[in-house]
Amino acid sequence: MDAIVKTSTNLNANVIYMLMHTLKLGLVMGYTALRMNDVMFGVPQIREVKTGVGSINPNCVNIMTTGHQTALQIVVIEAACSDEMQRIARDPDAEGINVVGATCVGQDLQSRINGCFIGQYANNFGTEPLVASGLIDAVVSEFNCTFPGLTQIARHEGVKLIATDDVALIKDAKLVSWSPERARDVAKEVVLMAVEAFKSRKRVERFGSVKKAKVRFSERFVAENMERIVEILAEGKVKGIAAVVSCSNLVSGGHDVLIVDLTKELLKKDILVWTAGCTAYALQGLGFMSEEGLEYSCEGLRDVCSELGLPPVWDFGICMCIARIATIAEMFAERLGLDLPDLSIVASAPQWLEEQALGDGAFALDCGFLLHVYPDPFTSGSRVVNRITEELPRLTGGRLLIEKDAVKTAEIMERHILKRRGS
Ligand code: SF4
Repeated sequence: MDAIVKTSTNLNANVIYMLMHTLKLGLVMGYTALRMNDVMFGVPQIREVKTGVGSINPNCVNIMTTGHQTALQIVVIEAACSDEMQRIARDPDAEGINVVGATCVGQDLQSRINGCFIGQYANNFGTEPLVASGLIDAVVSEFNCTFPGLTQIARHEGVKLIATDDVALIKDAKLVSWSPERARDVAKEVVLMAVEAFKSRKRVERFGSVKKAKVRFSERFVAENMERIVEILAEGKVKGIAAVVSCSNLVSGGHDVLIVDLTKELLKKDILVWTAGCTAYALQGLGFMSEEGLEYSCEGLRDVCSELGLPPVWDFGICMCIARIATIAEMFAERLGLDLPDLSIVASAPQWLEEQALGDGAFALDCGFLLHVYPDPFTSGSRVVNRITEELPRLTGGRLLIEKDAVKTAEIMERHILKRRGS
């Protein structure tokens, strides 16, 4: 609380203390909130999933998620998958009920759930086109990243908007208040609203492509394969790891543009990409999490990924899963007898939008990583920049890089990694 207050606009007059409080918030984010979903729902296991709108059945009642609160959405999925609800859905001639993931909560659900949850289909700016597709009957939003632009599109398409918290209450949405005690009743209510909306939805033909993606990476997978991964890094076939984790925005070249360009540049340099959040869907939707991604990879990375049967981009789930990556970094540091800033790991939030992404960024700086961000997180033109440049490497080892150009960013990241490798 102290740190939140002391990083508010126009409050702290001391640059160094403001910076320290920001870093403190990063630690809180990394070591507490981010780990709760695994505690409650278990650690993900690698699995191949389908993605791309071509795998959404237009003849089913389709409920889309937005937000970050897995706990409620899991109860909606349970209700949607139940025999009772599936039977009710077949009454208006639906072939069943599916839950379609979007934004960070979908990325987290994809890491854990099967059944009638059919996977992840959109990041933040992908939600509007998905609702406009004619495939969706209801949107259930529990927290952040529910765009107000959904109202017009939903009105046009007859899609029911449902908010379970007033923070997601956009125009035309129905607020259904949720509490853990009432979760099952609320979930049924949500599903029934979607079935009702299906009755008047115009039928579209199935369209779009179907892609495969290998997802659900975790620190457990890395721990189980630690010796081989360390060996691969030591051989130099893979030079290092870039954690590319953020939202998507429209100012870093357009929707997903810098995410994709930077990832291609990193893969060309034999740098393995680990991702989470809206960045993950940007790459998943384009095939980077399947063998298609190998086309962009340089020889060393391609050989290693082919040998392991893994893609060159690994998905770790929700945007806050930067914590998983930090945990793995800690494991590497322990295994190699190094400190975190000495590892050949860099981080990037190439298209941040929400402060949440800056919280993840602060955590990466706490860990002593080189952190690339775009756009500028309101630091330039002030004394803060000098302080960050001069003091941060001394404080934590972290370095901040603000850059819009993907080629330049990848070059700086590669130089940083090579220095850590002693080459
Ligand atoms: S990555 Fe950012 S924009 Fe995307 S859902 Fe998470 S907080 Fe929202």
